[in-house]
Amino acid sequence: MKTKRPVRLDPRWRVNIFYVVLMLALLWAWQESFSRLAVRTINYSEFKQHVAAREVVECAVKTDEIVGRVEPKDKKDAAFLFRTVRVEDPKLVEELQVAGVKFGGVRPSFLESFFVSWVLPLGLMFAVWSFLGRRFGAMGEAVLNIGKSRARLIREKQTGVTFADVAGCDEAKLELQEVVDFLKNPKRYQALGAKIPKGVLLVGPPGTGKTLLAKAIAGEADVPFFSISGSDFVEMFVGVGAARVRDLFQQGKAHAPCIIFIDELDAIGRQRGVHLGAVNDEREQTLNQLLVEMDGFEPNAGVIVLAATNRPEILDRALLRPGRFDRQVIVDAPDLDGREAILKVHTRGKPLTSDVDLRRIAAATPGFSGADLANVINEAALLAARRAAKAVTQRDLEEAVEKVVAGPQRRSRRLSEEQKRRVAYHEVGHALVAAYSEHADPVHKISIVPRGRAALGYTLQLPTEDQFLLTQSELNDRLAGLLGGRAAEETVFGEVSSGAENDLERATALARQMVGLFGMSEKVGLAHCAQKPGAFLSGGDGLLQTQRDCSEQTAREMDEEVKRLLDDAYRRAKQILSERRDQLETVARELLQRETLDGDAFRQLLGRGGGHDVA
Ligand code: ADP
Ligand code: MG
Ligand code: ZN
Repeated sequence: MKTKRPVRLDPRWRVNIFYVVLMLALLWAWQESFSRLAVRTINYSEFKQHVAAREVVECAVKTDEIVGRVEPKDKKDAAFLFRTVRVEDPKLVEELQVAGVKFGGVRPSFLESFFVSWVLPLGLMFAVWSFLGRRFGAMGEAVLNIGKSRARLIREKQTGVTFADVAGCDEAKLELQEVVDFLKNPKRYQALGAKIPKGVLLVGPPGTGKTLLAKAIAGEADVPFFSISGSDFVEMFVGVGAARVRDLFQQGKAHAPCIIFIDELDAIGRQRGVHLGAVNDEREQTLNQLLVEMDGFEPNAGVIVLAATNRPEILDRALLRPGRFDRQVIVDAPDLDGREAILKVHTRGKPLTSDVDLRRIAAATPGFSGADLANVINEAALLAARRAAKAVTQRDLEEAVEKVVAGPQRRSRRLSEEQKRRVAYHEVGHALVAAYSEHADPVHKISIVPRGRAALGYTLQLPTEDQFLLTQSELNDRLAGLLGGRAAEETVFGEVSSGAENDLERATALARQMVGLFGMSEKVGLAHCAQKPGAFLSGGDGLLQTQRDCSEQTAREMDEEVKRLLDDAYRRAKQILSERRDQLETVARELLQRETLDGDAFRQLLGRGGGHDVA
């Protein structure tokens, strides 16, 4: 693909030209003021008056001007030097003689004026320049090097990370191990005529270890490693990003075999031609340069470009075509075994008590990314340190999980007795509906200790295993569970409160997905009908125009179906609670007393220890 590169000055030259212009302006100002300041300029008639009044003491007649000194008769006025433009005046000499003025013709001393108006100011400026240059040496350097890439050269094992530090993404590791092998033994592949891939793209949600993996490759392969973030290319000057890309690849080729790692590729790799404005111009140029550079080096040059992104869908398609980032390595959120392995990596070298069961922590954290798990371990260590304990216990770990899920406890938030009772019934409502729905996830914990910013209480349900698919009945039961809180409030108090807002929001979103995306409504049918943010306004959140890909008619039917699903679920929740009113009372009373109930205690109160059998 061909790209036009507009002719633009190298930024270095722009800086120098600016300096030269500034210098000329200063020089001009100097010469002007030097000749003007001390000398008063008068007009010719004024000069003649002074001559007539015999006030001119001496003067010099030059080719085009007359300069001299005036001593006023009136002693109060100070003497001054004057200058006036010479006018054709043949009688002047006579008049000067009559007035007794000492006069003569003068040719300006070339040397003197040259020194004063050129050598002196230039010398001064040079002195100032070199002084500032030494003072702000580093800064000046930075201005002059604005087009240089900021990639840091990290050599071999300097990252201190190896594959052993990355857990839970074994497929990705395997594939990247191959990349390391390409770089270590290129001959083996070349002998078979195989082309070593130029670009490898790491794709996955945030915090799953993409950056970590890249560092690990640097640690494993004995080659130089250049790392730069996509946003480092974007600068205020147009053309700088492209210059940086060029520079980065130049460095890379000079150090081959090596790895170039571009983190957060989406910052520059976004699809072209969708957005408007000047920022865009700069980004497009940068992207074009990247595309050109990736085509520009030989497949077996020993340079492998590694990039990471969590938004592959917005990348320009030209980036993903063969010969560029044609290899994609998926780095997904870890499964149960993966989470356990990650927990093991992060507890390495930390003191744990013997009751710690990392498998159970892993089971309680579905959907957590590697970064979340690292955070859990760190929070647990902080909690243990707060108790001044010598080792981290299982309780610390469990508390840390809850803290990461729901925010820190806020025991200082005081609720009145009446409000607390309402929160307790609300939470028990969620838990009971879940316990008596066949397909709901088991209750793990109920609490009425306020947490985080908004939650006054919460019910934690955790699946027994990783869920990749959800059936219609499971989703329906989840809807009922979400509405259980409000149903309990209505059953017990005969009136609802504002506390169910978040529940309603989540339930509505879920119902909308079931109707529009999963085809679970007979009336609307199988058509996939999503509401996407408008293409032009995407980016921020809030004031978004949504674009429907269905007709008004279908949209109305969808709304009706969502309402029907929610109504059905709510009716079911209320029925479960009114049939088991006594259990609702028992558990709520217990919860009010103890503030938190774990899953086992909850099931014991219901009269069925442990298991998840269903009435
Ligand atoms: P991203 O995928 O967003 O680039 P990072 O690689 O920056 O995520 O991960 C952030 C942190 O989370 C890492 O420094 C590491 O401590 C932890 N982490 C993430 N994934 C893993 C993993 N698979 N194994 C071990 N630690 C991980
Ligand atoms: Mg990252
Ligand atoms: Zn609720």
